[in-house]
Amino acid sequence: MSYQNTLEFAREMDQQDPLKSFREQFFFPTFHEKEVVYFTGNSLGLQPKTTASYIQEELDAWAKYGVEGHFLAKKPWFAYHEELTQKTANIVGAKPEEVVVMHSLTTNLHLMMVSFYRPEGKRTKIICEAKAFPSDAYALESQVKFHGLDVNEHLVEVAPREGEHLIREEDVLAKIAEVGDELAMVMIGGVNYYTGQLFDMEKITAAGHAVGATVGWDLAHAAGNINLKLHDWGVDFAAWCGYKYLNSSPGGVSGVFVHERHADKPELPRFAGWWGYDKDTRFQMEPGFKPMHGAEGWQLSNAPVLGMAAHLASLDIFEAAGMDKIGEKRDKITAFLEFVIQDISTRNADRCTFEIITPSDKNYRGAQLSILAHGQGKALFDELTKLGVIADWREPNVIRIAPAPLYNSYEDCFRFGECLENAIQ
Ligand SMILES: *Cc1c(COP(=O)(O)O)cnc(C)c1O
Repeated sequence: MSYQNTLEFAREMDQQDPLKSFREQFFFPTFHEKEVVYFTGNSLGLQPKTTASYIQEELDAWAKYGVEGHFLAKKPWFAYHEELTQKTANIVGAKPEEVVVMHSLTTNLHLMMVSFYRPEGKRTKIICEAKAFPSDAYALESQVKFHGLDVNEHLVEVAPREGEHLIREEDVLAKIAEVGDELAMVMIGGVNYYTGQLFDMEKITAAGHAVGATVGWDLAHAAGNINLKLHDWGVDFAAWCGYKYLNSSPGGVSGVFVHERHADKPELPRFAGWWGYDKDTRFQMEPGFKPMHGAEGWQLSNAPVLGMAAHLASLDIFEAAGMDKIGEKRDKITAFLEFVIQDISTRNADRCTFEIITPSDKNYRGAQLSILAHGQGKALFDELTKLGVIADWREPNVIRIAPAPLYNSYEDCFRFGECLENAIQ
């Protein structure tokens, strides 16, 4: 499709956008003097206008029923997390028993690794990405140490080649083959938070399995962004947060995927809590942990209902929009934004050039573009902020922007371009 960097063209694209009505369902920040271009849905998704009523419903139930809300609330709190299961499964391509919403992301990564990183004999190593998101890096490091192993030896990082920004898929596959029967687990971010690079999760999962390792994915930047098929891809486990593309409130609840092949393995080591205990006999409070079938067997605590209510509000919007349509718009709007940036870069080549380090192939990216501004530093970013763009700056000179397909418009992309051009002048 051919694009034009004009307001008319952007508005025409918005007119034809099957998801255009969804923008109205979100609050856009108003602290800025001008209307903002909000391109940080990959960091904190916007608040749906319905969120307050979902939370209010539970506050009212609490006021009216007190503890009896566990059973008498319209959505009984005792089973509140179940309200989110099918909708979550639809987003990540899973069977309902393969997903559960619980806790927070880093907590869940640990819970998954307790079960799926089981160093034994010579099979002790983990393959991960170099410069993973800091929390993942700490989680991985502490898991290795937890087993009394040396981090330098057991954490094998795959990095971009000298002078490159992206990790080559062939290098990941080669490293998996090389570590071979010493490989216990592969854990990588499905979409790299810094570059926006999307990995071929199916291929890498198969490669890990071929050498006998388990394979797990951090989907913080993928859930609600990428069209996932976790079940079909045979992924062992995955976890993601609810507050990035999934718009489920700051620090909101996380989701977990555990493949059905692990659904009934009481022998799998895990850190257990009462909410993962067999539901029918949970309140007999017998000693000896009996895990529930499927992903629910990893729950520790009873559901934080207010956070879950916020998550449900957003999941209902995703249900209404559908991941297929979201994926189609994601590819189009990201390509349009890329076109706008390239147009401005070409026309202002005497001042500075913008290099988009995110892959240009839509099969290897989602809604995020990471821009290197050559010849410009933080001052450019600060100027953009002044002009009304809410984006994300990462040292040394990367600007990350994400047009969230649910609520961003093509006009947002055009306006971003205008701000970018003004900022460099
Ligand atoms: C956002 C993000 C996190 C955040 O973890 P929390 O436990 O939710 O604070 C972790 N890992 C990755 C890859 C992320 O993008």
